Amino acid sequence: MLDLFPGTQLGIGPALLEDPRYGFFYDLIAPRILSDEDLPVIEKRMREIAKRNLAYRREDITKSEALRIFAEREEPLKCELVEDKGGEVVSVYYIDGSPFIDFCLGPHVPNTNRLKAFKLLTLSGAYWMGDSERTQMQRIYGTAFATQEELDAWVKQREEAERRDHRRLGKELDLFSIQEQYGQGLIFWHPKGGAIRKEMEDYLRGELVRRGYGMVYTPHIAKRELWQVSGHEENYADSMFSPTEIEETEFRLKPMNCPFHIGIYKSAQHSYRDLPLRFAELGTCYRAELSGTLHGLMRTRGFTQDDAHIFCTPETVKGEIMDCVDFAYEVLRTFGFEKFKVELSVKGGDTSKGYLGSDEDWARAESALTDALNERGIPFERMEGEAAFYGPKIDIKVEDAIGRLWQLTTVQFDFNLPERFELEYIGEDNKAHRPVMVHRALFGSVERFFGVLVEHYAGAFPLWLAPVQVAVLPITDRVNDYARTIANELRAAGMRVEANVRSEKIGAKIRDAQLQKIPFMLVLGDREMEEGKVAVRERSRGDIGVMSLAEFREMARRLVESRALVNTDESGV
Ligand code: ZN
Repeated sequence: MLDLFPGTQLGIGPALLEDPRYGFFYDLIAPRILSDEDLPVIEKRMREIAKRNLAYRREDITKSEALRIFAEREEPLKCELVEDKGGEVVSVYYIDGSPFIDFCLGPHVPNTNRLKAFKLLTLSGAYWMGDSERTQMQRIYGTAFATQEELDAWVKQREEAERRDHRRLGKELDLFSIQEQYGQGLIFWHPKGGAIRKEMEDYLRGELVRRGYGMVYTPHIAKRELWQVSGHEENYADSMFSPTEIEETEFRLKPMNCPFHIGIYKSAQHSYRDLPLRFAELGTCYRAELSGTLHGLMRTRGFTQDDAHIFCTPETVKGEIMDCVDFAYEVLRTFGFEKFKVELSVKGGDTSKGYLGSDEDWARAESALTDALNERGIPFERMEGEAAFYGPKIDIKVEDAIGRLWQLTTVQFDFNLPERFELEYIGEDNKAHRPVMVHRALFGSVERFFGVLVEHYAGAFPLWLAPVQVAVLPITDRVNDYARTIANELRAAGMRVEANVRSEKIGAKIRDAQLQKIPFMLVLGDREMEEGKVAVRERSRGDIGVMSLAEFREMARRLVESRALVNTDESGV
């Protein structure tokens, strides 16, 4: 930039280790507004400089010397940074043989020819120091890797991620929308997205009941005092919507479901014989996320957790944790995930985090979680100091179809809420004891899980989840009635069907069904009608043959009931 646009003022240029979309950016003020066409030109100059094999040279100089150098170079932004961040001695980096000097802690590569695989990605606006009152800057995003192969693989994955972007597919497949006039971060599930959500929920509810959970339903708001007792006012107020008042009582929208399930627990006396109690709810929560952090279905202001709270005795908690882990694996595999990364977040040595509970409690909780994972033979990474202040937790991340990791399931111990709400059960000794509480969510948020599924499948859902499972496509108007009859029979058998009786060429109808990623198409002509048959197309395999409606229905039923991930029947159809 200094070479190509003399007079450019440099701001900051950090690495973005946390953001997989980019590798780094540089904020600067150029003599003119940059456009996308400038990026290849800048990149070309970067390559030339890299090839010249110029050495990076670090110098430690006094703060006043650094201020003098940057003032002389008319770099007021760097002066401000040195003033703000520099100590008595500051480090600056030179590139010998170039006009570049930077104020930086380092380290840097020793010379420019180490920079082999990099790419500039995009431009955006930024404010100096992130302050909208301050100077407007231009931001150049880029990324860099050690080798060209790694860069190529990353670029390919990025293109693939764009092709799968749930916001784009959500629109193309008419699954959901977010509407500014109703509010940012709020999700509208359209009928097709709703059909998928219903399948997700039906499956989950069935499993919950089978595994001894009680389904509960709780309000979306509660008196402000409740959030004071729970500690949310104290620790979580920034993420909560402001209170609203009726008859001089203040209420707040719930950011979590936990206190409500506790309310159900507290509504009766419990003996150790009643435990464990497992309360599950598809609980809709609201969080006051800042607009800049919202991202499609992945980060919203209103979302539904597949939440559950387990109240049990310390003796049974390990078994409960194992059941949660088993449950999570079964659910995640059912939705087509095969690779997992498990993390166990524990307390660590830092006492400033205000951990609650005694060391003994923590040791017991950690060993319950560790033993549960070990007994299941699940490899995990111990994350020292990553536990919540109220207890240790297991997080399960899944790898999607293009190798990205998503944090979905969490299983958390809690010492805090049973204490705050003074939960009790009567033990075998006839005395009152405090139960252990486990929070767990498998999908995490239904919205986010759905977003991950859309991207994982690139919108081509397996039959059991597909919003439209079968497209009935008559070749001529003469067979429209036959098509309607077929569609009705399949609907009566519980399938989601669309009959396309528009006056279009069959090629156009098939193309349309393919674009909608409908798993099966039944192509009907005069011959199929006369013989009472259907010609079946599968979206990725094309024609798979002519069969009776009963045969097709039976094949589809088997695929749906087994929640098959590909539309290939065991029988080879
Ligand atoms: Zn909870």
